[in-house]
Amino acid sequence: MTTMLTEDQIPQAAAILQDGGLVVMPTETVYGLAAHALHQLAVTRVFQAKERPANDPLIVHVPPFQEGEDLSTLQARGLVADELPIAQAKVIQRLMDAFWPGPLTLIVPRGSHVPDAVTSGLDTVAIRMPAHPLAQQLLQASGLPLVAPSANRFGRISPTTAQAALEELDGRVDAIVDGGPCAVGVESTVVQITEEGVVRLLRPGGTPQQRLEDVLQTPVLPGRPVHLGAHISPGLTESHYAPRKPLVLVSHEPQHWFDTRWEDLRARLEGAESIAWVGWGDTASAQNQLHRHLHMRVHCFSLGPAGDLEQGAHKLFATLRAADASDAVMIIAQLPAERTGLGAALVDRLTRASADTTPLA
Ligand code: AMP
Ligand code: MG
Repeated sequence: MTTMLTEDQIPQAAAILQDGGLVVMPTETVYGLAAHALHQLAVTRVFQAKERPANDPLIVHVPPFQEGEDLSTLQARGLVADELPIAQAKVIQRLMDAFWPGPLTLIVPRGSHVPDAVTSGLDTVAIRMPAHPLAQQLLQASGLPLVAPSANRFGRISPTTAQAALEELDGRVDAIVDGGPCAVGVESTVVQITEEGVVRLLRPGGTPQQRLEDVLQTPVLPGRPVHLGAHISPGLTESHYAPRKPLVLVSHEPQHWFDTRWEDLRARLEGAESIAWVGWGDTASAQNQLHRHLHMRVHCFSLGPAGDLEQGAHKLFATLRAADASDAVMIIAQLPAERTGLGAALVDRLTRASADTTPLA
């Protein structure tokens, strides 16, 4: 049984977590499936509920620093390794000071209390301090570090509302704390800090790369794939965030694409009665063209004004969910024009959402 909780029921949610149970909590990025990070069995339950492969490590969420707390507090709690090269410790602390609480996950050497199940056996651990007040209250009330991967079954669209989390995990978690829609809407940016203090980007997300570089005053380098046995780690898998329906991508200037692909589209959509368009700005032109050439109903969803990446990120997953729930047989989604900042996160999520669909010729 999954119980819906409101924000005044945080103590109840905290008690479930202390007992090794599973609680979905709102964060500023997406809803997270929270569990006691140092409790082996609780962590195992998270992988089971999500059907997540064991070689995809989890992010450990920590409460806001109190007066006088810093990186050394996390080391004292056994979350981060005790002995760090000075260059590395300095950069970690600078990123914490500038971006925490917020959508930035730091990959750092792992402390002795972190179970293997959390890191998939890696000698590093992913750590983040969420900005959402309810996530912070839950971390404080439970007194626990919490793993909190997105509250969806593996590979599927991340939930940005309590209702979407319930659709994904009903009966698989003990409770869901409803905190309304998530503000940012895409997952955290993930960076690794090397022993030399070099920062590498493993996943674009809610914190733009440019802002990291402004603070560090040095370039952030592209990440190297993290190898786990024979597998390349994690959220780095090619297909992810995927709707059940096929999803094809079009550029922000779709006219040429349209003009050269009507035949392919008609062949692919033979017998279909409707299609979904997820695009930027006014959807009327795309709707008219799709209707005129394909002779079927077109369900239109707008991600907001072109160029408004914050609104686009905020709406992305809920919009993909709505398109997926429609009776369309295929989703056509338009990429943003911008490839930097939140644009990088949007392109990344849309590309992986389309990875299982054979592209149109
Ligand atoms: P999520 O699925 O949103 O919880 O994101 C977790 C992601 O963080 C994983 O899929 C990895 O890409 C990344 N991650 C977590 N721990 C590590 C680690 N120790 N090294 C590299 N990447 C990690
Ligand atoms: Mg996820």
